[in-house]
Amino acid sequence: MEELSAKELRDRIAAGEITSVEATKAVFERIDKFEPVIGAYISTYRDRALETAADVDRRIAAGEPVGELAGVPVAVKDNMCTTFGATTCASKILENFHAPYNATVIEKLLAADAVIVGKANMDEFAMGSSTENSGLKQTVNPWDTSRVPGGSSGGSAAAVVGRLCFAALGSDTGGSIRQPASFCGVVGLKPTYGRVSRFGLVAYGSSLDQIGPITRTVADSALMMKTIAGHDPADSTSVDEAVAPVCDYLEKLDEPLKKLKIAIVPEFAAGADEQVQKALNEAIDVYKKFGAEIIEINMPHLDYAIAAYYIVATAEASSNLARYDGVHYGHRSEKAENYIEVYSKSRAEAFGQEVKRRIMLGTYALSSGYYDAYYLKALKVRNLIRADFTGAFEKCDCIMIPVSPTTAFKIGEKVDDPLTMYLSDIYTIAVNLAGIPGISVPCGFDENNLPIGLQILAPAFAEDRLLRIARMFEKETDWHKKKSPIV
Ligand code: GLN
Repeated sequence: MEELSAKELRDRIAAGEITSVEATKAVFERIDKFEPVIGAYISTYRDRALETAADVDRRIAAGEPVGELAGVPVAVKDNMCTTFGATTCASKILENFHAPYNATVIEKLLAADAVIVGKANMDEFAMGSSTENSGLKQTVNPWDTSRVPGGSSGGSAAAVVGRLCFAALGSDTGGSIRQPASFCGVVGLKPTYGRVSRFGLVAYGSSLDQIGPITRTVADSALMMKTIAGHDPADSTSVDEAVAPVCDYLEKLDEPLKKLKIAIVPEFAAGADEQVQKALNEAIDVYKKFGAEIIEINMPHLDYAIAAYYIVATAEASSNLARYDGVHYGHRSEKAENYIEVYSKSRAEAFGQEVKRRIMLGTYALSSGYYDAYYLKALKVRNLIRADFTGAFEKCDCIMIPVSPTTAFKIGEKVDDPLTMYLSDIYTIAVNLAGIPGISVPCGFDENNLPIGLQILAPAFAEDRLLRIARMFEKETDWHKKKSPIV
């Protein structure tokens, strides 16, 4: 049963061939067996999940209507608020935080009758590219347990490829869905900024954050998008559906796009490892077989994306994380002797090193005297990057670039060198700065049998197009079918 995709499982449950209780039990058997090795979850909810599953089974047996994901066991990243269990953001500061409400995406999953299995590990407050910044535990890559699963949604990606759930939600501020999906050989979609509600997503960089699916197949990605997309009155940045209607992403998924015009950015892609470049070129060859036209474009400002991102993201983070002070939210120091110490000691004791580094960077960039030189300048660069993409999409239907310059690296390899870690985001962060959607699909393996991802980018709100283009590739290739050693 575990080899089924989420959509296949959903269809079999609806047809009465498998019960949701059976599927949920099978997932928990795998969790019992493999979670001690993989470490994908911060918390799991066996009793609750089995109760939901039994309820779905009962309703299906009684012929009652059920939701889009009825009975499917899914995981969510632990930065999405749930009224059950804790919402930790993998931080000691929120270790005992119990949210008073569900994030909108959680409400949507529940309304779709999904079975929430657990909350997945991540880099603390989603700051990182390897999940090594988790303040609570280590997640490993199921393809090679000495390597990172990517990050920051590393727990979600490892759970999907390790078959500890059938699909998951992650969040992506600078690559945190696409890069772990690529490192783990699964499909990761970062939707357009504003497509999915951020209400109840613990904020990191509010102008960049988006929630999206991590799944085994493109069809599962479409199914999850169908469930979570749409306007939410509780999130003023979620887009009005009269302006950008949500489509049924599954409806035309199998219809290939004719006369596809694909742009590549050779100079930019040349920064990736040889094997990553080779896989990318071979992927493009697959599209050529479909008659796609390939054009080369120049995106002159992409080189500045990392610098701009690490100013904008840290500036927003420094403001967003001010609320964790032991008074409003989070851990409170027992050693404080006055109220100033409540703030300083609580934060000093419970934030991890990377989070502290980013708060300091962001505070610096926003401080008077430096605001114009750093923050304002970064916003200007952001506009230029956005314009690069707008210009590019006048000439093509989509852009194809690598997801990451390398495949999954060794645990510990980059932890002492934050700059190298930041540089590994080169191919993903410009997409967040521009607000456009991007998908990572499995497109090959390196000589160490580690997955490589192909990144496809489309204009804002063209998720339907993106998914169809990704599906064309998936249909022609078997990369997504290869099993990790832990299966
Ligand atoms: N690696 C990037 C960072 O550390 C992106 C993380 C993310 O998308 N949440 O900020």
